[in-house]
Amino acid sequence: MSTLDLASLLKDQPLSRYSTYEIGGTAAFLALPQTDDDIRAVLEAAQSHGLNPVFFGMGSNLLFPDRPSQETLFISTRSHRELSMSGERIYVSAGTPMSLLALVGAEIGTEDFDFCYLLPGTLGGGIYMNAKYFEHHISDFLDTVYYVDLDDLRQGIQSIAAEQCEFSYKRSIFQQKNWFITGAHLKFKRCPANPDALEPFLVHMDREKTAISSLPEFYDFYAGALDRLEARLGRTLSKMRGVIEDRTGKHHFDYPSCGSVFKNNYDIGEPIGRLADRLQLKGLQYGNAMISPVHGNVIQNRGGAKAEEILYLIHKVQDAFSKHYGFVPEPEVVVVPS
Ligand SMILES: Cc1cc2nc3c(=O)[nH]c(=O)nc-3n(C[C@H](O)[C@H](O)[C@H](O)COP(=O)(O)OP(=O)(O)OC[C@H]3O[C@@H](n4cnc5c(N)ncnc54)[C@H](O)[C@@H]3O)c2cc1C
Repeated sequence: MSTLDLASLLKDQPLSRYSTYEIGGTAAFLALPQTDDDIRAVLEAAQSHGLNPVFFGMGSNLLFPDRPSQETLFISTRSHRELSMSGERIYVSAGTPMSLLALVGAEIGTEDFDFCYLLPGTLGGGIYMNAKYFEHHISDFLDTVYYVDLDDLRQGIQSIAAEQCEFSYKRSIFQQKNWFITGAHLKFKRCPANPDALEPFLVHMDREKTAISSLPEFYDFYAGALDRLEARLGRTLSKMRGVIEDRTGKHHFDYPSCGSVFKNNYDIGEPIGRLADRLQLKGLQYGNAMISPVHGNVIQNRGGAKAEEILYLIHKVQDAFSKHYGFVPEPEVVVVPS
């Protein structure tokens, strides 16, 4: 495979457009690979041009720097959308939005992926953090994960069985390794009644529109897609309707954010949000960043916030927890260094 030259990469891209926080300076280089071959070519280009690759999906669980290094190549998988049935499993590329997976499930006749609806990230990001919604984890449905090892590109795409991925609450082996996830085979708990519906459904789902980082646009698109799907199927998809009620009720899409900033600490027995509420941290503002007035574990961008303002509030919460509860909460948000 020939190595890409720098001219074929996107230049001077505002990272704020690629994150649900709508925060981030200008990326000197950015790539949006569409296929596995593209991913390998981009990773080889980074290596041969001495650029540091930073890979991500929808940017819904990370904080980009205000002043990114000029030597970084940012690589988003969001244009890498591929789904295909293979026997009792479905292959899903890393860049596939988890919300799209939920709609696909409904279309082919399984409720297995309903919990992914309105989870604003890609499958790759979901695997990395073992994304969850109430009692359902993405790892419950994984069979095999495919990845490229950045420390040994010559190996090409390798695979690992889900049981070996060290999944637990918000943890996976991918947080310890320099591995770029390219896709996964997912297994069903309830086999789809209509697997042939997959291909025609995807034709109608615009690749650009399904991969959106602006939370209001994301919500509008997927709420509209659910309306259309229900109209076509002639029935209400009540679990996904329940997700809409739950997430809009919690104001998830009102302001740019990354969702929960900290992982819960189950040794303590109470969620971080409730512990923060008790310290009256809700509504605390620094510059244009604010701890959500309705949820103590969410830090919002109230308009034009900088990464350093979000970081200030993260440290403020950590200091308060250390002082009052004797532990420092672990960030769930991935802070991308400058
Ligand atoms: C409003 C809101 C609500 C949310 N609700 C939930 C929720 O209910 N449950 C939940 O679990 N999360 C939730 N999140 C967080 C987030 O959506 C998930 O963590 C999601 O899985 C992140 O996916 P992403 O594609 O956006 O990852 P990104 O933010 O793009 O990346 C996050 C991390 O994953 C790594 N990564 C991404 N793609 C790959 C890949 N292909 N290979 C290797 N590493 C990769 C990145 O390097 C980075 O370290 C919420 C976020 C928001 C904004």
